[in-house]
Amino acid sequence: MLLKKGDTGLAVTRLQTALAKLGLYVYRVDGDFGKKTEDALKAYQQKLGVKPDGILGDYVASKLGLLSAVLATQSTNIKPVIVLTAGHSLVDPGACNGKFTEAGIVREVRNGVTTILNSRGYKVINDGTGNDNQALSKAAAMVKQGKIAIEFHLNAAVSKAATGVEALAQSKDKAICQKLCSALADVLDIPVRGSAGGWKDEGSGQHSKLAYVSAGGIILELFFISNDAELQKYFERKDHVFMAIADVLTEA
Ligand SMILES: [Zn+2]
Repeated sequence: MLLKKGDTGLAVTRLQTALAKLGLYVYRVDGDFGKKTEDALKAYQQKLGVKPDGILGDYVASKLGLLSAVLATQSTNIKPVIVLTAGHSLVDPGACNGKFTEAGIVREVRNGVTTILNSRGYKVINDGTGNDNQALSKAAAMVKQGKIAIEFHLNAAVSKAATGVEALAQSKDKAICQKLCSALADVLDIPVRGSAGGWKDEGSGQHSKLAYVSAGGIILELFFISNDAELQKYFERKDHVFMAIADVLTEA
């Protein structure tokens, strides 16, 4: 695969120009692979008798006179791949509050944010789809496949009053952790924990989670599942929670 919807840059400009010469693309050549470019490419694929999926591969590129090797070097500004994984697993529910489990909620968050990012043209790698949730070792191995990797967790404490959002990561991700915490604090109306805008360095936190952080990922502790009021606010506002996280990642 060379180019697809969501890609931008000189390579897209060349694709649009080639499709324009054929009269299939009659819009502004802007280097932004959107719906119109996709439709034009599909029309050309149909003409060639190949599957009209709107994704530019080697064969169609060569038919358009575009050299794959050159295109690859010109595919600048392609949106970063994002890794989103859910904490715990099918056999490890994590923290619980009544019938609600951490694993169940973070799976829902993973899926919700992924849907939004996909709709914005981002490629997202997950540790399973739907109700699947692969083990931490699998999730940690995915970290390096993305520019950003986040594993969702919920905090829990014996005290029902414990509250807030925090993120555990290496210092390279301090700024994005702070943005994520700030956005979630706004949506859920909860405090940002600690004295560094919610960011905690990799030396702190629960030992069992560190494999993910050591690999370069972010552990995002969205809120306290043990805090009834926070849990309730999550259920009322979860669509906004997904959107807030997606917005931070889209800006990153
Ligand atoms: Zn957890």
